[in-house]
Amino acid sequence: MKVAFFSTKSYDKKFMEKINEDYHHELIFFDTGLDLSTAILAQGFEAICIFVNDKADRAILEKLQSQGVRLLALRAAGFNNVDLKAAQELSIKVVRVPAYSPYAVAEHALAMILTLNRKTHIAYDRVRNGNFSLERLMGFDLRGKTVGVIGTGKIGQVFANIMHGLGCHVLTYDPYPNEDFASEEWVVYVDLHEMFKRSDIISLHCPLTEDSYHLLDEEALQQIKPGMMLINTSRGGLVDAKAMIKGLKSGRIGYLGLDVYEQEENLFFEDLSGHIIQDDDIARLMTFPNVLITSHQAFFTENAMTKIAETTLQNISDFEAGQELKNEVKLK
Ligand code: NAD
Repeated sequence: MKVAFFSTKSYDKKFMEKINEDYHHELIFFDTGLDLSTAILAQGFEAICIFVNDKADRAILEKLQSQGVRLLALRAAGFNNVDLKAAQELSIKVVRVPAYSPYAVAEHALAMILTLNRKTHIAYDRVRNGNFSLERLMGFDLRGKTVGVIGTGKIGQVFANIMHGLGCHVLTYDPYPNEDFASEEWVVYVDLHEMFKRSDIISLHCPLTEDSYHLLDEEALQQIKPGMMLINTSRGGLVDAKAMIKGLKSGRIGYLGLDVYEQEENLFFEDLSGHIIQDDDIARLMTFPNVLITSHQAFFTENAMTKIAETTLQNISDFEAGQELKNEVKLK
């Protein structure tokens, strides 16, 4: 099947082409992201493949459908960038990669915690400049600390297990707790208020929905343990960046690790060095010594990229063969 890929980077092309040796689709790669002005590129394609910052709102889906697109394949787990109601009404099937490597994301959350805590990013620069001082590099033992995990799906469970293994007390919150996981004797489900009050570290592993939008806002910051660490490897919209800036300035937040950012589509995945950053919130966040920002790289391991390519190409083959789409995203 002929498939147009949007927002293609060298690594997408490399993994897709390698795995496609077993699938034999015709893959056409575009660097540009999908928006109303670039949707025209999908002319003549029945299937397109998009990533997390490509937009598929109603207007774009209407344009795609009028050009013959019938399948939207997300090479990602999250689908908050797709108007599912519009897709259903326009008879465009939406498929995704529900699981690729929960370890990739959970381990990146751990990397952020260790970096922020032990300040290895600062130590690395210092030593390279001949500064061997330990001033302001003090960290804390993770063992015995209380870690709140918001969202106990695939990634949240792996992350909770890692932190349990490090000797932390794990508190979990999820409106739909997983029964098997909840039956582990070390897993303690609490409500959000209690988690905010007791946690030294909170890590977000839930999807972005209407309910979870700005879950961490000014009101939440009133409830947290002063000086706590917040890690977000899920979706930018879960965190109110302006509230975080206030919290960092007042010291209410002690450490902030962001792999995702609400306005990331104008920034992440691009080399903007030498450009003027127009986003004042991220520019301010970048000035804090206790903030670590990575550009949506938590998923980025060889294992995850291989699995993403395999599942995406299999989804496309299933659609082509008229088979059941087991990874279809349906409107609830
Ligand atoms: P999952 O569907 O397995 O688990 C999500 C869990 O969140 C579920 O248990 C669900 O009940 C729970 N949940 C739903 N609404 C909630 C709420 N309001 N508060 C708390 N919990 C809630 O998903 P997953 O594979 O574990 O992925 C989690 C998130 O990680 C995804 O939604 C995606 O946004 C993000 N993600 C980020 C990257 C990255 O590279 N940074 C990569 C993959 C996934």
